Amino acid sequence: MAEQEIFTQLSTYDHEQIVFCNDNATGLKAIIAIHNTVLGPGLGGTRVWNYNNEAEAINDVMRLSRGMTYKAAISGLNLGGAKAVIIGDASKIKTEALMRKFGRFVENLHGKYITAEDVNTTTKDMEYVNMETKHVVGLPESMGGGGDPSPVTAYGVYMGMKASAKHVFGTDSLAGKKVAVQGVGKVGGHLLEFLHKEGAELFISDINQEMLNHYAGAVGATIVKGEDIYGLDVDVFAPCALGAILNDEHIAKLKCSIIAGAANNQLADETIHGPALMNKGITYAPDFLINAGGLINVYQEHIGYNRETAYRKAEHIYDVTLEILKISATEKIYTQKAAMNLAEKRISDMSRVKSTY
Ligand code: NAD
Repeated sequence: MAEQEIFTQLSTYDHEQIVFCNDNATGLKAIIAIHNTVLGPGLGGTRVWNYNNEAEAINDVMRLSRGMTYKAAISGLNLGGAKAVIIGDASKIKTEALMRKFGRFVENLHGKYITAEDVNTTTKDMEYVNMETKHVVGLPESMGGGGDPSPVTAYGVYMGMKASAKHVFGTDSLAGKKVAVQGVGKVGGHLLEFLHKEGAELFISDINQEMLNHYAGAVGATIVKGEDIYGLDVDVFAPCALGAILNDEHIAKLKCSIIAGAANNQLADETIHGPALMNKGITYAPDFLINAGGLINVYQEHIGYNRETAYRKAEHIYDVTLEILKISATEKIYTQKAAMNLAEKRISDMSRVKSTY
């Protein structure tokens, strides 16, 4: 993206606030972007990344914070959207002092922003942040937190996949259905277990041979080489590794009926590849809807953690997915757009609810 004036960027997607945090002593250079707090405090993780320049960091934090607004809204949570980035090489810059200093900046926002872990931050980092602010989630279970959110995320993806099957095949049973899972990490691994239990025929790809061997044994999955996963003749493709994999090249190869996976930002360009999938007759379960189990899990931590309640709320992803697929079919709009419209409607409706004291 070409460099733009900051206020031009804020107004493009109506961001509320951006906070630049600098501390020479610890080397902290962080940006907190708060996109929208109509539904509640902005919640989103803190990413540490070695950006090439400041414009790239600003662009990333603005894009990610907006994504969180949609994810929270579509999931029925009373949360807004926000995100933070810390600029630098995670292996070199992360110290107790830097994370605690960042925690003080979070504290200064008095709960308007709630942070959590993200790429290159860990539960341990959040423990340091928590020494300076209570506005942090994603803490270990030993500290009253929700622990690893990935089983709940996988359960939500599974629910989204079953709803998509109901829409496409008329039954939500995945028994005997062929499912290809790209990325057998934390979420992909748990997803495989749900699918295996139900009797799906599984295909897997990953760059980690050890994990592939493990799941080939544990759930009897067939290992597929890298790029071959896109062209498999399967019922469902579940991207659980990387974003932007639904591009021109890969969509041309796809033979699946449904795409339902955990990876964030699967559509390389949503306005091009959302319609492209629709035109090809492939049902795409919107990623920000069906991978919201992780956010549901940390939201539960924010209001008082209970894992059963987190699973129950993640189960609701089934109903919302079905509703969105129906809207998409009736209104002839691509599924990601239908989901975004529904999220925007909820924000707009709730802003009116809040218009009286
Ligand atoms: P993870 O790091 O545990 O697993 C990712 C897996 O993908 C790893 O096994 C990795 O080896 C594999 N991988 C990397 N590059 C690959 C490639 N080119 N081809 C095939 N496999 C490749 O991460 P995770 O927590 O399981 O998350 C998976 C995806 O879901 C990510 O995109 C993440 O942003 C998204 N997500 C995760 C959660 C959560 O609760 N963990 C919540 C929402 C979204």
